[in-house]
Amino acid sequence: MILLSNVSKIYPNGTKALKGVNLYIEKGEFVFIVGSSGAGKSSLMKLLMREESPTYGDIVINDFDVANLARREIPLLRRSIGTVFQDFRLLPNKTVYENVAFAMKVVEASSKEIRRQVPFVLGMVGLGGKAKMYPHQLSGGEQQRVSLARALVNNPSMLIADEPTGNLDPETARDIVKLMHYINKRGTTVIMATHAKEIVNQMRRRVVALENGSIARDEEKGVYGYED
Ligand code: ADP
Repeated sequence: MILLSNVSKIYPNGTKALKGVNLYIEKGEFVFIVGSSGAGKSSLMKLLMREESPTYGDIVINDFDVANLARREIPLLRRSIGTVFQDFRLLPNKTVYENVAFAMKVVEASSKEIRRQVPFVLGMVGLGGKAKMYPHQLSGGEQQRVSLARALVNNPSMLIADEPTGNLDPETARDIVKLMHYINKRGTTVIMATHAKEIVNQMRRRVVALENGSIARDEEKGVYGYED
């Protein structure tokens, strides 16, 4: 569950990136966040990941009061959120297996858990046979699958994806979104900021449109709805 109440984000230079945003996302939802460049999508995602704090307002994620989180609680929150980015952010000198295992080591999972869980998530994203390869040996779509596996390996309750298909060709982008759809069907809440108009229009899921830092539209089975 995510609840934003009257959330504003003003950066130190005075830019108002988000203005009085109210948003409720239930557990298990699939939500697209759309809006032109500068509308506030990334700022919203960063607030959810606790990379930034709101200037005003409250953010609740599951049992966490995100805006007023104690430092020692941040790792717990982060463990409940998987993140995926446009640029994959894989470690170039680690294999596929090691990239995913690393996310478990960071949260101090046991070697036994790691040995069980990493092959499971790699299988889920269709990369069971590529565990020993390095990121540069993979296609863009495969690299994004690795980062999805890494995002999911600690069983987060939600997946936050900021432009996950931005570096992929349309067909590969559709495959990645299908995979995210499957992940959502298994119970993970998915929040995806995107410019991928065709995908948003095909999926007919909830669409939250940001404009100038405010929610301009929030539709249950929405469409992309504007020209870039
Ligand atoms: P989007 O992801 O929709 O393109 P952003 O959230 O990145 O939008 O940006 C919203 C506004 O906030 C823009 O005007 C952007 O220039 C500004 N902004 C984003 N990050 C910062 C920052 N760290 N410092 C100052 N302004 C920022």
